[in-house]
Amino acid sequence: MDFDPSPEQRAIAETTRRFVEKEMPRHKVLQWARDKVEPPQELFMKLGALGYYGFLLPEAYSGLEKPDPMGMLAFVEQFARASSAITTAWGRAAVILAPLVARFGTQAQKDLVLPRVMRGEVFMALGLTEPGSGSDAASLRTTAVRRDDGHWVINGEKLYCSQVKSAGFLILAARTDPQAVKQEGITTFLIPDPGSDPAIKLTRIETMGLGPVPTFAAHFDELVLPPDAVIGQVNKGWQCVLGGLDNERLYHGAIGVGASQAIIDEVSAYLKQRVQFGKPLSKLQSVRHKIVDMQLRVEAARLLVYRGGSVLEKTGACHNEASFAKVAGAECYMHCATTGLHLLGGYGYTVDSGMPMHFQDAKLFEIGGGAMEVQRDIIARGLGL
Ligand SMILES: Cc1cc2nc3c(=O)[nH]c(=O)nc-3n(C[C@H](O)[C@H](O)[C@H](O)COP(=O)(O)OP(=O)(O)OC[C@H]3O[C@@H](n4cnc5c(N)ncnc54)[C@H](O)[C@@H]3O)c2cc1C
Repeated sequence: MDFDPSPEQRAIAETTRRFVEKEMPRHKVLQWARDKVEPPQELFMKLGALGYYGFLLPEAYSGLEKPDPMGMLAFVEQFARASSAITTAWGRAAVILAPLVARFGTQAQKDLVLPRVMRGEVFMALGLTEPGSGSDAASLRTTAVRRDDGHWVINGEKLYCSQVKSAGFLILAARTDPQAVKQEGITTFLIPDPGSDPAIKLTRIETMGLGPVPTFAAHFDELVLPPDAVIGQVNKGWQCVLGGLDNERLYHGAIGVGASQAIIDEVSAYLKQRVQFGKPLSKLQSVRHKIVDMQLRVEAARLLVYRGGSVLEKTGACHNEASFAKVAGAECYMHCATTGLHLLGGYGYTVDSGMPMHFQDAKLFEIGGGAMEVQRDIIARGLGL
């Protein structure tokens, strides 16, 4: 077992660290979070210029000989130091949805979507969750009915459709066979420019964190899609969705690791110079132990994240490993955000310390992409329970 990052992963991490320092200083990130605005697209286009949208895409689009999940995780860990939220704006396209198009899409769909994603020109959105189906996502009820001319008519409602207003593409999961067992009657569709389609009514949902990544309720009223909007096979859309969810869970774990490490580094630096009772707070045993416990969680989560990456690299898929990574990373992030804020005292409670942003953002990772209980159920099934 080799626990050391490769020279390539080190280079990615170093480049990303410099990128984040230059392009995403604390005051800018806090401003985006406070104003609840998406960062400018140029930020993401600079990531595109570095090739950082291509980690999981085929050579024809990425230029990589083979997909590079470990490089992707090295990038995420560093990028999430600046903002876990903004990492999701990148990841929804780079990790979840563009690889789905690459795997299941037609040549025309790939040529439409992947070059634009590679350039960091577009966000992508996923329409899976509904008012009546969240953790039990396959029970979705939005319908797609095929007309005689082969076109599809979509009706229904999606919840928490993040960035759908500004997205270049929406991938929508809809029920195409109401008689089939629930996972078997679902089809995925590709919808360009969803934010400007009059048949899709969007209502912003105010959230406690994730300010730079707005989320919406999307109401579909007789939206007509051409026959070639189908991704993969009709009624086989659940297979497409599942691969995307596994990727999401793995990189959410890496987000948790990177953001937690940033918290620990900041808290440690502060406590080393914050003198109370005649010595730095970092010299108090109960304080030191809290920091050590945070670092222990990070180390353990990091191993699970890279183990997931290694399985993905070797086999092209990871399922249980992704859930392990997600639980460890997300719970570590929530723990570090809570403890880190506490250890900074009154300063931790100020917006400028960055801790309230972490505190608010961290909770999302214990819910979104499958709550912790859902991940534990997946792991339990893997254990044969
Ligand atoms: C900010 C944000 C952004 C999001 N972005 C998107 C997006 O872009 N696209 C998209 O499709 N979805 C998105 N989601 C939806 C997200 O994936 C769901 O919220 C998540 O899967 C949980 O579903 P739910 O909210 O319906 O919770 P529910 O399914 O109602 O579950 C509520 C709680 O019940 C418990 N629970 C659920 N199932 C079990 C179980 N089997 N065993 C034990 N306990 C259980 C858990 O504690 C869970 O938190 C987003 C959500 C948020 C908050």
